[in-house]
Amino acid sequence: MPTKIICEENAIANHGSIMNSLGSTALIVTGKHSSKTNGSLNHVVNSLKENNIDYHIFDDVEENPSTETIIKIKLFAQDKGIDFIIGIGGGSPIDASKAAGVLLFNSQATIEDLFTNSALNSLPIVAVPTTAGTGTETTPYSILTDHNIKNKRGICPKIFPVVSFLDATYLMDTPKNVTINTSIDALSHLIEGYLSTNSNCFSNALAESGLKIFSECISYISSENIPFKIRENLLIASSIAGMVISQSGTSIPHGMGYSLTYYHNVPHGKANGILLKEYLKIYANNSKDKVDKIISLLNFSNVDEFGNFIDELFSKDLKITLDELKNYTSYMNSNKAKLKNHPYPLTYEDILSIYIKSIK
Ligand code: NAP
Ligand code: ZN
Repeated sequence: MPTKIICEENAIANHGSIMNSLGSTALIVTGKHSSKTNGSLNHVVNSLKENNIDYHIFDDVEENPSTETIIKIKLFAQDKGIDFIIGIGGGSPIDASKAAGVLLFNSQATIEDLFTNSALNSLPIVAVPTTAGTGTETTPYSILTDHNIKNKRGICPKIFPVVSFLDATYLMDTPKNVTINTSIDALSHLIEGYLSTNSNCFSNALAESGLKIFSECISYISSENIPFKIRENLLIASSIAGMVISQSGTSIPHGMGYSLTYYHNVPHGKANGILLKEYLKIYANNSKDKVDKIISLLNFSNVDEFGNFIDELFSKDLKITLDELKNYTSYMNSNKAKLKNHPYPLTYEDILSIYIKSIK
């Protein structure tokens, strides 16, 4: 995990000079609103001014960024002599930064190349996460919405940020629903990463420490006022989870969740979260030890108690027909990359039953 992480209050004010080594012109990529109100955009701009770095701002990244948005960023920035990109926001703007960084670094590259050519490099990326969820600040992944395949998928080039500034200040006023969705995304990364075929003793040690930190935050997740220390611990757990999935990848809940997001606009974290209990149950049919360890690190007594915790966080408001679930099952069943991260044979019926039991 080659990213330099700076985790402290005022991280950018204290260490922004690091960006001097990345060039003299920066592109800031961010969402429409939140970075303007939580202080992160101002802090970055002030630091760039202090360090005499020119900058341009693209502030139109939507949730679950589409390939069309990546093209817009490229067109906006391509004649501006950009040396590096600063992604500020949740996973959406930071993932968009990575994908745009590839297109700007390789002027001939197309969107299709993003999904086929893993050899492409990117402009250097600086990440300023303002959600504690995706871990994109410590992962090489960038997930885009591709309307051509009517789903979400990751780009092939592996782009780790060069620097990530973690400052929980920016998360203090996060609305409850965003806190819940994003925390459960981080939890899914820890769980899927821990159970993945690619996990090893090192990634397991990270996952266990992340689960332990997460367990200490559980009682605060749906509070209105979350103390700074808890916000910071959620951010740390999320970045640890990113390190875990950088090694192990995500697996079935993520693969299944993408369709719920694409077709029913279910936020990414909720989409994974509502599938976790049934996934853990099916996993435990073959291998109980690691599932038991997860449950005990999270201080629950069994998988059903864990399921109750998830149920209390999310409204059961999804109206999805059986035919739709069958379509999503077929899509998941063809997603070899995610299936290979699950260590036991999983049939079409297994996947469909996870959907049905989770969504009914
Ligand atoms: P997001 O889509 O980046 O943002 C969700 C919402 O939260 C937006 O409305 C955003 O507002 C708002 N928001 C962000 N920070 C805020 C703050 N501090 N206070 C108040 N509101 C805030 O959400 P996300 O869950 O972080 O990212 C999801 C994306 O990441 C998905 O596309 C998912 O597939 C991807 N992902 C990537 C990885 C990876 O490793 N690369 C891993 C998992 C998931 P604004 O739009 O105004 O900013
Ligand atoms: Zn995720």
